[in-house]
Amino acid sequence: MVTSTLCCANNSTLRILTMICPKCGSTNDKVIDSRSAHNGRAIRRRRECYGCSYRFTTYETIEAPLQVIKQDGSREEFSKEKLVNGLRRACHKRPVSISVIEDLVMSIQHHFEQTHLREVPAKEIGGMIMDKLREIDDVAYVRFASVYRKFTDATQFADAAHKLKTSN
Ligand SMILES: [Zn+2]
Repeated sequence: MVTSTLCCANNSTLRILTMICPKCGSTNDKVIDSRSAHNGRAIRRRRECYGCSYRFTTYETIEAPLQVIKQDGSREEFSKEKLVNGLRRACHKRPVSISVIEDLVMSIQHHFEQTHLREVPAKEIGGMIMDKLREIDDVAYVRFASVYRKFTDATQFADAAHKLKTSN
């Protein structure tokens, strides 16, 4: 995608995004029609290439934020801040800089963005953090792992309690 500029009457600059023409490869096209699509979740644009007059369609959609599946099955939006805060607690008074923590969280976020997953179990994110944290700081790793393990044990306990209930 290439950005071209057009000059308006009031001298303000209007940025227009153009697509590469699938037929001739030109990056100059005009939008001839825009309309709502997929029940308003997308915008469908008919475009015409200035180079060869070929007409093609593009869809503009909202990129849904990554959802984290919690132990109880509920979903929560992936929060970079939340992870950074949790890691800062684990790294309290440890020789780990905030930028190292932020890089770790960013690398996890990028990992899931690249896999194009919409939903990731919290467990999987926790496991990835533990793997990376182990290489960064032993104490922070143990602290994080103890909180994380307590979390998984609590669900295992809930599962066991649930099984007892249903077997009665
Ligand atoms: Zn073309």
